[in-house]
Amino acid sequence: MAIVGFGTPATVGNGRKMIGGKARPMGQTMIAMQLDAPGEPLRRVERPMPEPGPGEIRVTVDACGVCRTDLHIADGDIRGPLPIVPGHEIVGRVDAKGVGVRRFRLGDRVGIAWLAGTCGTCSYCRDGRENLCDNPVFTGFTRDGGFASHCIADARYCFPLPDAFDDLHAAPLLCAGLIGYRAYRLTAEARRIGLYGFGAAAHILAQLALAEGRTVIAFTREGDSAGQDFARHLGCQWAGSSIEDPPDLLDAAIIFAPVGALVPEALRRVRKRGRVVCAGIHMSDIPSFPYADLWEERSIMSVANLTRADGSDFLALAAKYAIETHVTPFPLRRANAALDLLRSGKVEGALVLHP
Ligand SMILES: [Zn+2]
Ligand SMILES: [Zn+2]
Repeated sequence: MAIVGFGTPATVGNGRKMIGGKARPMGQTMIAMQLDAPGEPLRRVERPMPEPGPGEIRVTVDACGVCRTDLHIADGDIRGPLPIVPGHEIVGRVDAKGVGVRRFRLGDRVGIAWLAGTCGTCSYCRDGRENLCDNPVFTGFTRDGGFASHCIADARYCFPLPDAFDDLHAAPLLCAGLIGYRAYRLTAEARRIGLYGFGAAAHILAQLALAEGRTVIAFTREGDSAGQDFARHLGCQWAGSSIEDPPDLLDAAIIFAPVGALVPEALRRVRKRGRVVCAGIHMSDIPSFPYADLWEERSIMSVANLTRADGSDFLALAAKYAIETHVTPFPLRRANAALDLLRSGKVEGALVLHP
């Protein structure tokens, strides 16, 4: 879509409002797929069109990725206010601006990610660790997200998106890519990195790590030969099931699958000083394991959320390395089918909803 920048919306003929270059009837409504209670399917609702407050933008959603965190929210593994509209990998065009927004123009394409707001005053925010803010706001969890026709966001937390990616292919960068990148940075100088769970995040991160000269090892569920073929096709040196031993020990491992039993598995396959990074927001319990597996300066850590700097850094690298996201599009009204498919684990790459 061409960029339009006509300032505030103007009224044009026959009672329609000119917003973002598109004529719309007055008193318009928006469509959303809303979670009313954990474990229930999302419900399609029509709501009054929201107006952006000071510092906020409203976007028309062109694509929104489906992340495992959306599944954890829908299934009640993690709990926030309800009802809520999930979705935090949003690509949209600015179609209205609140007072004080200068960063974007009407019609600009923006990305909206998980971190929707921070307090700016807690010790973590002051130390440049806004991903750990004590009073954060999260898109699609504590404020409505992008499983919808429209969405409101704080303009300061939105990202300009590289032109190299179309809407559908940009969407998975905004969480799968970003969280994967933050986890990857925590592996520091590791040359040989194992990825447990080869889904949306791993397929992006594998390309980034390979572009930076790392060796990537992929672990999937037992018997997932399609997933292992996909990993090898992307350039992974070895792909096998999560209980198999790769040819050599790993320098670091990143666990994307929400399976606690993978933590001791991964720990046994990292060398001295090796690090195991848990990249998900929720995981089943971690079984006990012998201390000897942690001994020799091995470590286990988790990665939480993202900072805006992570986002800018990663999006620039994604464009630089021409990372290819593999996406399966679903119409918005089929959001429940997309969640079911993600739950089944039979997804190659990422699922993306579109209007
Ligand atoms: Zn804070
Ligand atoms: Zn996510």
